[in-house]
Amino acid sequence: MIRGLMQDRPLTIPGLLTRAETSFGHKRIITGGTEETVATWAEITPRVRRLAHAMDALQVPAGACVGTFAWNSQRHVELYLAIPSSGRILHTVNHRLHGEQISFIVNDAADDILFVDRTLLPVVWPLVSSFTSVRHVIVMDDGGDVPLPDDPRILDYEDLLRGQPKTPIETVIEDEHAAASLCYTSGTTGNPKGVLYSHRSVVLHSLLLLGADVFALSESDVIAPIVPMFHVNAWGLPYAAMQCGADLVLPGPGTAPAELAGLLSRHRVTFSAAVSTVWRQLLSELDGHDLSGLRHLVCGGGAVDDALSLAYQTTIGLPLSNAWGMTETSPVVTTARLGTAHRGLSAEESRQVLGTPGPAVPLTEIRVMSDDGVEQPRDGASPGELQVSGTTIASAYFGTDRGAESFTADGWLRTGDVATIDRWGHLRIVDRTKDLVKSGGEWISSVELENAIMAHPEVHEAAVIGVADPRWGERPLACVVPAPGVTLTIEDLRQHLRGRVASWWIPEQIELLEEIPMTATGKWSKQSLRRRFADTASPAVAEDDVKERA
Ligand code: AMP
Repeated sequence: MIRGLMQDRPLTIPGLLTRAETSFGHKRIITGGTEETVATWAEITPRVRRLAHAMDALQVPAGACVGTFAWNSQRHVELYLAIPSSGRILHTVNHRLHGEQISFIVNDAADDILFVDRTLLPVVWPLVSSFTSVRHVIVMDDGGDVPLPDDPRILDYEDLLRGQPKTPIETVIEDEHAAASLCYTSGTTGNPKGVLYSHRSVVLHSLLLLGADVFALSESDVIAPIVPMFHVNAWGLPYAAMQCGADLVLPGPGTAPAELAGLLSRHRVTFSAAVSTVWRQLLSELDGHDLSGLRHLVCGGGAVDDALSLAYQTTIGLPLSNAWGMTETSPVVTTARLGTAHRGLSAEESRQVLGTPGPAVPLTEIRVMSDDGVEQPRDGASPGELQVSGTTIASAYFGTDRGAESFTADGWLRTGDVATIDRWGHLRIVDRTKDLVKSGGEWISSVELENAIMAHPEVHEAAVIGVADPRWGERPLACVVPAPGVTLTIEDLRQHLRGRVASWWIPEQIELLEEIPMTATGKWSKQSLRRRFADTASPAVAEDDVKERA
């Protein structure tokens, strides 16, 4: 072999930091909330260095996980840069999970220190005694009047930075394969599993997003990631903004639909991404806002509802564009687009094409396999299990002996989704094989919910399915068989679940049945249940539950 003679530079997050500072020092990061803040990369990058030095001063070991419980904000961007650039692992935690899951995740990652937005302290602090490895909780004051516990483990973010120099970060990331960040995904069975991204995969994924047939992100864009920064690096958008020099607009704790609509119009946002629940809630708030700056709205993480997309097309002249991905895939694998094959389609047909996941982005491959392991033809009509492969896709889960069954013998990721691919390579999701319920963009584990219900002494058995819901996408419906001879009521069950699971997990619909139908192999037939309850409209979610999620 004759080796090429090109420079060998590792693809690392410090490279993104340098690029943001030297090429785009004047570009802005705006954070919403009670007091909107604006900072440029020229102002943020010295803070990132101070933060890295602060972690050195706290003796956070190289390779340790550093947890974040934070909204989409400037400080969270600083953590996105400082933690991996100084040789530690950024571990973003979903604060909406149930306490037991949060404790499991923090302990599984062995987080050494935690950075917590002050408004999220009421979620994190009560769990602190269950964290086995956490030495400090660094509070980021994002407004509000949450009292600070009088405890030596509590430190203040701005105090820490003030005490440090803005000199270069001492650690040098020499190997682009070094771990950069960690995000946990909920599984159908058992505990959440960690996905460990490398510097290389983060950098490559951020470049992918710039592609003209992907999101076509450029310096002239104003990007508003509404998707939380705890969820798969906000779909890679903050890092993509550093690559291309776009302005970043982040909601901070101001995630109410009216605040989001104001943010999008005030800053003439051009590109935004969220799950369908958010787009649905935002729709009624758009009146009176000038959204003519918008050029692309990504509706990812689930199917696009055509009626919703039509409403956007009618209201602001822009339909929703779908994208497919998973925590395990960084996440973007396919993005909807209109190719040459779609020339001449009507507005309605074009909208429907944009409402499906679309073709695979560069560096990734997709295939659909039959149950007996044969690749299905690309005819748009032969469903099978979607499998994906590429440099931005996980090869294993964090920790040993976990989820090996999710990978094929030839190293592809088994997604658990059922899909078809057409002759132009466009993906269409038919169904999920998983039984998870996706409510408001967040997973509810049917197994965990079933177990919590079955912990009631008067319950014989319980099966949970997802039913369509106009507001949240899906809601759980519980089918419960009472133990013989008892007088179990639905209110008993709801009362029993309070405190056992997050309140927004508690099903509005609980059906008391005489038996749960079985498959031929003696398992519950959730398919029969789904058929039976397909047309059941779920009652409104209790107001408290909505508040908890907002
Ligand atoms: P998560 O790891 O939480 O991001 O969830 C990934 C799962 O969300 C996938 O396995 C799919 O079941 C679902 N999903 C993501 N994107 C789409 C999409 N465009 N259409 C349908 N389902 C999707």
